[in-house]
Amino acid sequence: MSPKKLIGKVEFRENLAGQNYLVRIEFDEKVDFTPGQYVSLKVNSEGLRRSYSVASLPEEKSIDVLVDTTPMGVGSKYILGLRVGDEVEVLGFLGNFIIDFQATEKARHIMFLATGTGIAPLKPMIEDLLYKRSFIGEMRLVWGVRHETDLYWLKEMDNLNRDYDNFKFDIVLSQPTEDWPGFRGHLGGLVNELTQDWSKTLVYLCGSREMIVEMEKRLKEKGVPEEQIHYEKYY
Ligand SMILES: Cc1cc2nc3c(=O)[nH]c(=O)nc-3n(C[C@H](O)[C@H](O)[C@H](O)COP(=O)(O)OP(=O)(O)OC[C@H]3O[C@@H](n4cnc5c(N)ncnc54)[C@H](O)[C@@H]3O)c2cc1C
Repeated sequence: MSPKKLIGKVEFRENLAGQNYLVRIEFDEKVDFTPGQYVSLKVNSEGLRRSYSVASLPEEKSIDVLVDTTPMGVGSKYILGLRVGDEVEVLGFLGNFIIDFQATEKARHIMFLATGTGIAPLKPMIEDLLYKRSFIGEMRLVWGVRHETDLYWLKEMDNLNRDYDNFKFDIVLSQPTEDWPGFRGHLGGLVNELTQDWSKTLVYLCGSREMIVEMEKRLKEKGVPEEQIHYEKYY
């Protein structure tokens, strides 16, 4: 389906943690896209745009976007200025960062690796696989953020962890407090400790360019074939 200009309205904007905001945009009709895709939002009157992954499932009358406003550029300021009822111009749906279903037939594991708001497209991809598809292999999401105070969606992820035996969720903090009981460091450190058949692992990476470049190199060294590594670079 070719991308279309859609006019929506802000249903709500919620601070999830730190500088991270969830914005729900409501449309007149249900919208269809593939989990993992993104939208391009018009962020000023001159028509400047910023891309945001859709953080919710399709076939609803609304979409969620999850935005880290730390960069404080035009896009961040636009998101911070949005109020309930504001009109939003969206170009959607874009991108090819979607599950390769043919490849899932041969895969034993699907690994999702995110830093920061890179978790946004991975959540609906995982939910779609768990709720609607019959992938029976192991799925693991590893999410890297800096501090405990940057965390959100923990209840949602814990519920998936509890309800699906083949889904596992891990957090890695690079700058935790002393009390943090979980993994410390960067994604690469945790991935290094995992033993699995890497040649039968599909990987979906989302976040900063730096993380993706590093993880792609590391995963190839571990034996993940290049065509099984998919990524979305945010900046
Ligand atoms: C396909 C795609 C999907 C994206 N999806 C999301 C998403 O779901 N959520 C989201 O928060 N962002 C997402 N981004 C990034 C987003 O489009 C903007 O780049 C980001 O929000 C910054 O926009 P800005 O106008 O506030 O800052 P800009 O003026 O564009 O940038 C200001 C400065 O901050 C740096 N910067 C940009 N982004 C980040 C960042 N995330 N962390 C640290 N430094 C940064 C830039 O290099 C620049 O130096 C996505 C990007 C792409 C390409």
